[in-house]
Amino acid sequence: MFNLPQTRRYDFTIRCKKCGENIPAPVGTIPDYWIAARCPLCGETRSYLPSEIFQGNLSYKLGRKPVRSVIRLMGEMKRAIAREQAAWAEKMQEQTRMKSTLVIAAAIIAAVRLAKDTDISRPSPRLTAVVSESVNLARMILDRVGR
Ligand SMILES: [Zn+2]
Repeated sequence: MFNLPQTRRYDFTIRCKKCGENIPAPVGTIPDYWIAARCPLCGETRSYLPSEIFQGNLSYKLGRKPVRSVIRLMGEMKRAIAREQAAWAEKMQEQTRMKSTLVIAAAIIAAVRLAKDTDISRPSPRLTAVVSESVNLARMILDRVGR
């Protein structure tokens, strides 16, 4: 009875129908129907009923890799990535909206400022100055509205 490796407690354990070892069920909750599971020890794939899933100690033959925490971590990572992607998409959408609003507002301001100019088809220092002034003014207005 010495050097006996410690077994790990696992929420979703099944007893392999071939070799009889306790192995992790490939689930995160108790399923509604039967599941198929492949034994990592003997390679046998069998079906298991929800009633055959129990909280138990995994076979020491599985080694000491913390299966449960790895599965949990993977789930957390997936959720974090999904959250990040959703937040990013929302931010991009918001930025796109802000930009088009800014362009419209700046264009209106620039149009008013340039109303008396006869030729604005070519770039000129005045045109550049008016456009950047208009953008700044539009941004100021948007900032004011945003508050
Ligand atoms: Zn087995």
